[in-house]
Amino acid sequence: MKVTVAGAGMAGLVAAARLRELRHEPRVLEKGTRAGGSMLLSSCVVWRHLEWEQFRAECPRGDERLQRLIWERLDDALAWLESLGAEPVWRDTENPLTTGRRYDPKALTQLLARHVELGTPLPDDAEPPLLLATGGFPVRLARERGLLLRANPWSEGDGYDFAKARGASIAGDLGEFYGRAMPAPPARIEEEDFVRLSQLYGREARVFTDDWRELTPPHVAWHENDLAQLIGPRAWYVVGETNQRIEAAREAGGEVVEREDGTIAVHVAAAVTHTLGGLQVDEHARVVGTEGIWAAGVDAGGIASGGYASGLAQALVLGLAAAESIAETS
Ligand SMILES: Cc1cc2nc3c(=O)[nH]c(=O)nc-3n(C[C@H](O)[C@H](O)[C@H](O)COP(=O)(O)OP(=O)(O)OC[C@H]3O[C@@H](n4cnc5c(N)ncnc54)[C@H](O)[C@@H]3O)c2cc1C
Repeated sequence: MKVTVAGAGMAGLVAAARLRELRHEPRVLEKGTRAGGSMLLSSCVVWRHLEWEQFRAECPRGDERLQRLIWERLDDALAWLESLGAEPVWRDTENPLTTGRRYDPKALTQLLARHVELGTPLPDDAEPPLLLATGGFPVRLARERGLLLRANPWSEGDGYDFAKARGASIAGDLGEFYGRAMPAPPARIEEEDFVRLSQLYGREARVFTDDWRELTPPHVAWHENDLAQLIGPRAWYVVGETNQRIEAAREAGGEVVEREDGTIAVHVAAAVTHTLGGLQVDEHARVVGTEGIWAAGVDAGGIASGGYASGLAQALVLGLAAAESIAETS
């Protein structure tokens, strides 16, 4: 049975691999010039919260059934990846709150990417069965909000638009995103610097708007995603002493100011990694309100709402769930 998979990031590649195991022939379409999507640019830590209650507490507005699916299936999904030959570089996440594996993103992409049709966007007349795995709409959200992009440059919301036009239900807040503070322009940020240049010390900083109104929240989460949502297109982080990330920002041409009182101010901007709102799916990754359309990865919305969870875990587990459901029904 011919199945179309749109998007060759983690979700699309995993689904295609599982479909092949289940004796289907996926056609994998990729809009960009390379396979791997944002996974290729990522730290590639595929993780879940150690405790289920912690997941719920950290992402309180997310769909509980889907969160449970990801939380319960991730360990088996990681074992399945290993059965394909994926070698973790670390078997832990270096975070006592989470568990998972870290992979080399290039090696994982190389292992999973088979027969990907590059430079081939999902056509408007694509027929079911169809899996949407186009990576949400970080490019569009960043453009609309004047934020930086910290993702692959092709995830414009094509999967979302395609399904929405065919009656799809939407889940989550379409303005919510997972992101990081990055050095504000004129800093030069190449894709390979997305991880290194993340200004991930906001918990120790006082935070000010561009015109120096204090914004420092009473509490910042360990992942600082709440702070990335708060700072918008420009803000200042003020800290007592420099660190490696600040020096990296300075070297990249970012504004780092030594102030008269001895503190250091770093000009930062929120950067969108992926959107948290998107298509509503059920536990089989079927898009609610449509026929013959599935969505996996961050095309599916309303899972990490209100917090932060692993986008790669969402892509891996929903990619497998979608492939198995497609194989069963097609
Ligand atoms: C710097 C960085 C670090 C990160 N670190 C981590 C981490 O350590 N752990 C973690 O869990 N997550 C991390 N993430 C997030 C993670 O990479 C994403 O959540 C994950 O890649 C989402 O997978 P996906 O398959 O849904 O989308 P993507 O991996 O983004 O893949 C979507 C693909 O669809 C393609 N596409 C778009 N439109 C079309 C179309 N019309 N037709 C065909 N193809 C299309 C895109 O080109 C892309 O290749 C990080 C991201 C970045 C950028």
